[in-house]
Amino acid sequence: MEDNTKAIRNQIDRTSYREHSVPIYLTSSFVYNSAEHAAQMFAGEGDGDIYSRFTNPNTTELIQKFCQLEIAEGGVVTSSGMAAIFSTLATHLKKGDHIVACSSLFGNTIYILNNILPDWGIECTLVDAQESEKWEQAFRSNTKMVLIETPTNPGLELIDIKWLAGICKKHNIIFCVDNCFATPILQKPMTLGADLVIHSATKWIDGQGRVLGGIVVGHESLIQPIFDFLRRTGACLSAFNAWLLSKSVETLEVRMERHSLNAKKIAEWLERHPKIKSVRYPFLKSHIQYHLAKKQMTMGGGIVTIDIDGSKSEVFRFINSLKIPSITANLGDSRTIITHPATTTHSKLSETEQRSAGIYPSTLRISVGLENVKDLIQDFDQALNSIG
Ligand SMILES: *Cc1c(COP(=O)(O)O)cnc(C)c1O
Repeated sequence: MEDNTKAIRNQIDRTSYREHSVPIYLTSSFVYNSAEHAAQMFAGEGDGDIYSRFTNPNTTELIQKFCQLEIAEGGVVTSSGMAAIFSTLATHLKKGDHIVACSSLFGNTIYILNNILPDWGIECTLVDAQESEKWEQAFRSNTKMVLIETPTNPGLELIDIKWLAGICKKHNIIFCVDNCFATPILQKPMTLGADLVIHSATKWIDGQGRVLGGIVVGHESLIQPIFDFLRRTGACLSAFNAWLLSKSVETLEVRMERHSLNAKKIAEWLERHPKIKSVRYPFLKSHIQYHLAKKQMTMGGGIVTIDIDGSKSEVFRFINSLKIPSITANLGDSRTIITHPATTTHSKLSETEQRSAGIYPSTLRISVGLENVKDLIQDFDQALNSIG
């Protein structure tokens, strides 16, 4: 079956009420028919749920859908994207281990690698996404994991997943891909050799900026220990959020297609505008990795990164003149969002770190929404004219 059929038709069993739409199972625990049944369940011999910190019908449905979309054996869901990343790291890295990661990872992920894991005796080497020869050079005898994001935020640089998976395999290193920006609709890292795929479900998967959530899918042998870690440490996803995210997945394909179509049209229009210095978008022919984008992604995604030809105050005037986009730091919403990374999402980085992540005072990240694209272009046009 194709993605949209799987996302829509993969549904947990109906109750005796024969409801069409899956209900929310707001229950912390589940009851047993007898003392024997309870004993059997706790011995791990029965089927079904025990306690919602471990499993719940709504989280089970979301996990099943995601395993099918990412073509993975097993999965877990978590209270946020960061909980998904942290539980993956905390499960698979031990004192004395080393991890190699991409320097343009999500800021809080970098914080964990640089500030939390070192206290626990786990070391990290960061590699620039573009310096491909550096990955293998960074490997040590104690390197256990490689963690990347592609496309990167907000520079939209790509890493060749298949190529890096091959190198990790050769050294017997767990290869994790944060697939948040692409979603399984645009890119399926497991089919390119990834061992684990991580998501912040908060972004495109919810798609309407309502809830936080995280997902990890991958080989069963790597997922089971993460599940054991999570069921004891408690960063579980609530039944309500799982229910909502599972409903959202039903429309993920149509949304990602429209986000990508809108974003490409806007990227092409902005590229021709005299007030725009540069446009970064994976499916623009001018993107330095256009061929890789075509190879590992089916569409370009909803994020467009631009540089305005003007001072910081002109950039701010442009933002303030926009009538449609929201000024907020989230992304992956039905509403278009504009962000100035240098003073918001990436303001904690030094100037040198910002430059190496491709962030300048002139850089803006646009998370293109589902509004009518003509309205959006007209709005960008009037706002660019206002800084003329
Ligand atoms: C937002 C984000 C995260 C963190 O997810 P939360 O749900 O906010 O905890 C991780 N990785 C990427 C790429 C993100 O964009």
